[in-house]
Amino acid sequence: MVNVYERNPFARKQCIDYYGIQCQVCNLDFEKTYGEVGKDFIHVHHIKTLHQIQQGYIVDPIKDLIPVCPNCNSMLHHKEKGVYLSIEQLRERILDSH
Ligand SMILES: [Zn+2]
Ligand SMILES: [Zn+2]
Repeated sequence: MVNVYERNPFARKQCIDYYGIQCQVCNLDFEKTYGEVGKDFIHVHHIKTLHQIQQGYIVDPIKDLIPVCPNCNSMLHHKEKGVYLSIEQLRERILDSH
């Protein structure tokens, strides 16, 4: 489900150092919510689709990656009527649902 860039531990760390550990879609903070067991549980989502990636591409941990919880990450990898939703679109859905 996740692509190779989302599993790169160095890029992941730089991304989280920059954005923080909360999900950037729904604001879930695993450690705050679940305690110690939730530490380091956040995923990072790779924003570019694989077909947008050129040969020799090097991931930019700030521009190309974003911390998200596994639920939001799954939603970002799930198409709606054939298209992926963006981070902003998902955020709006969550706001609308409250
Ligand atoms: Zn989330
Ligand atoms: Zn992802």
